[in-house]
Amino acid sequence: MKESEGFILSELNRAPLAATQQRLFGTNGVRFVPGVSNDLDFAINLGEAIGTFFGSGEILVGQDGRISSPALTNAAISGLLSSGLDVAEAGLVPTPALQYGVKTMGFKGGVMVTASHNPPQYNGLKVSGADGVEIPRLDEQRVEKIYFDRSQNKADWKTIGVARQEPSVIRNYLRGILSRVNAKAIAQRKFVLVMDIGNGAQSGAAPYLVESLGCKVITLNSVVDGSFPGRGPEPTPDTLKDLSAAVKSVGADLGVAYDGDGDRSMFCDENGRVLWGDQSGCLLADFVLEKHPGGTIVTSIASSQAIETVTKRHGAKVLRTRVGSVEIARTILERNAVFGFEENGGCIYQPHIAVRDGGMTTALMLECLAARGMSFSKALSFVVPKFFQAKTKLEVSHKKVEAVMRAAEKQAKGEVERVDGVKVWTDERSWVLVRPSGTEPIVRIFAESDTQEKADQLVKKFARVVKTASA
Ligand code: MG
Repeated sequence: MKESEGFILSELNRAPLAATQQRLFGTNGVRFVPGVSNDLDFAINLGEAIGTFFGSGEILVGQDGRISSPALTNAAISGLLSSGLDVAEAGLVPTPALQYGVKTMGFKGGVMVTASHNPPQYNGLKVSGADGVEIPRLDEQRVEKIYFDRSQNKADWKTIGVARQEPSVIRNYLRGILSRVNAKAIAQRKFVLVMDIGNGAQSGAAPYLVESLGCKVITLNSVVDGSFPGRGPEPTPDTLKDLSAAVKSVGADLGVAYDGDGDRSMFCDENGRVLWGDQSGCLLADFVLEKHPGGTIVTSIASSQAIETVTKRHGAKVLRTRVGSVEIARTILERNAVFGFEENGGCIYQPHIAVRDGGMTTALMLECLAARGMSFSKALSFVVPKFFQAKTKLEVSHKKVEAVMRAAEKQAKGEVERVDGVKVWTDERSWVLVRPSGTEPIVRIFAESDTQEKADQLVKKFARVVKTASA
């Protein structure tokens, strides 16, 4: 689609990448398996490169509850100090709490030791700028260049950084969220909420948040455990059967589940039906546009067309980006948009901070349901038009990706969008997205239509096209 219809390629989507430059950062931060794909020296050297990139000042460092997080955090801190920067240690906090602390407590930047929703053996580093938002792609490349050129600053005994504890990060985070919602209206509804923390980092924050909002909360998997014994670190409709059953058995108003570092949230309604993030995202977008008339919404090319129906009602604009929360966050900032969401449950409420935030999203959802004055399922059926989705993934070698994209494009009857992969509209209400993964030799196929049968058929048809073109 054309720019005037609300589709853009943001500046960072066009970040030039020298073909020869080696990468460390993936879709969201640096990820690796400590002791297998990298050792602690790597975290020290990367810490030095990050410190050199920031140049001076104090960095807020936090960690999730993974088994390797204390070791990696100490290594990253050593690197930051060695480059001459000072460090404030937040301890075990959700990623959005760390990022909100960076934005509001006067830090030069932030480093979060986390691998988000990845399996337990993974860990990684996420780097935020002074606004708390993940640094743009071009700055990631600057950090990588320092790392690979070995041009890190090495401070001497006089200029080496100092470290201190910063114990108020979660308190500051909860206070920030509470100031953004109508706490009184929420408390009046006396919501009963089941919260599946997935043994992750929201354990010390989200339950206290909803209690402060007058909710009765029942928690599942609430003990922080880096082996993620409950349901694993990634919340999806498949992994949330216990949440769904608990909501039904206690007669709760809703359920919510977080990923390992607490930035993504998936909801289920009072009937225990788990929603994909673009359904809950559309419901919230509608409410946010009521709170902020004239606001702009940002989502990726892979999200449901339901958002266009919702925003049309408000006369609001939708901007579509490449897949990935960094793209969405940076576009929100560039275009001063008010809200963004992804189908994996990452929601960004910009007046609070332009990062995905499971706690803020939960408070917004409670405020939305309080304002609607009806059950979750009713609110959803009133606001969000029903579309059906299907998806699959196929192995495709990097060499064959271009041929596959050309073959997919040839299937188009209507318009084709090339924001990320190839998105083909086959009729007014049906589209297919064929998108290569940035990290694995995989091509993903998403389809959406007005019936499940049509969505399934589209995925099947394009899977055949991809197979033929990659053979
Ligand atoms: Mg996460």
